[in-house]
Amino acid sequence: MLLFLHKRHIGRLLEKALTVLFLLAILSSCNKAVYESATSQVNLQKYDGINRVLIIGIDGCRPDLLTKEIAPNIVELMDQPETAYSLKAKNESRTMSGTNWSSMLTGVHHQKHQVNGNGFRKPNFDEHPSIFAKAESTYENINTASIVHWKPINKQIIQDAVDISLFGNDEEVKNLAVDLLQTNDTIHFVFLHFDDVDHAGHSTGFGVENPNYVNAVKQTDEYIGAVLNALAARDLSHENWLTILSTDHGGKGKSHSKGRLVPEIRTVFAIFSGNAVAQQGVISEQVNTVDIAATVLQHLGVQQKGLDGKVVEIKPVN
Ligand SMILES: [Zn+2]
Ligand SMILES: [Zn+2]
Repeated sequence: MLLFLHKRHIGRLLEKALTVLFLLAILSSCNKAVYESATSQVNLQKYDGINRVLIIGIDGCRPDLLTKEIAPNIVELMDQPETAYSLKAKNESRTMSGTNWSSMLTGVHHQKHQVNGNGFRKPNFDEHPSIFAKAESTYENINTASIVHWKPINKQIIQDAVDISLFGNDEEVKNLAVDLLQTNDTIHFVFLHFDDVDHAGHSTGFGVENPNYVNAVKQTDEYIGAVLNALAARDLSHENWLTILSTDHGGKGKSHSKGRLVPEIRTVFAIFSGNAVAQQGVISEQVNTVDIAATVLQHLGVQQKGLDGKVVEIKPVN
């Protein structure tokens, strides 16, 4: 009997010890994952376990306009040591805004999300939800915002999968974004959309030879400068932001539709900036705008199953 009890006692002790070991193993693997995705610059005591993302979309902005004279704030961001970029990225073979914002925000091509233009007739966002929907369903306490000039981005693509959904003209988008970044400590994931550059292209022509188009890029660059300043003014000690700048398409003449074979429409920019970005300067691999979703999900620690895009190299710098 004594021996029996003794054995049982040892058995229970072993069980307890194994449970503790198991819990310790889980805890240490969690810590490791957090550390790897948080990078050494982040104060882990205050880090809430979710990385942060800011995507700024400039509708219809050609990469050849991103010069020091026309877009000094964007070029300054590109010159930062934690920024990598491609000015030879590719958008989708269907070159309308609806298709391209859908691909950027879902990470799949139009054959899957079924948005073939600006009509959103039979979108398949149930099967291919936006990265906002994926982030929101992964983290109960993630805080998200999408502030756009072109309403279908929120109404059709992102829908109700975002905590803060706002509309405005470009100046209002800028003001709302600055206000959000200045006042909301717990905002994790923000998408902004500016549209005046595309409007200028349609009315008087896409290209560096058109002063109206150039001025629209200059104005948008000023707005983006204000947004980036608001981000930089936050207490970033425990926030690990990845900032992405891109566009849905370029343009030629006064149009960007049916641009599959037109380099001025297919060639776009993609800029990635933040502590998690491993390389500096020009990204040598081919970047596609459909890659942005995978890269965002990687940074947020959200599963990337079933995407057409790949993760752009943003390894943490430790
Ligand atoms: Zn567009
Ligand atoms: Zn357009």
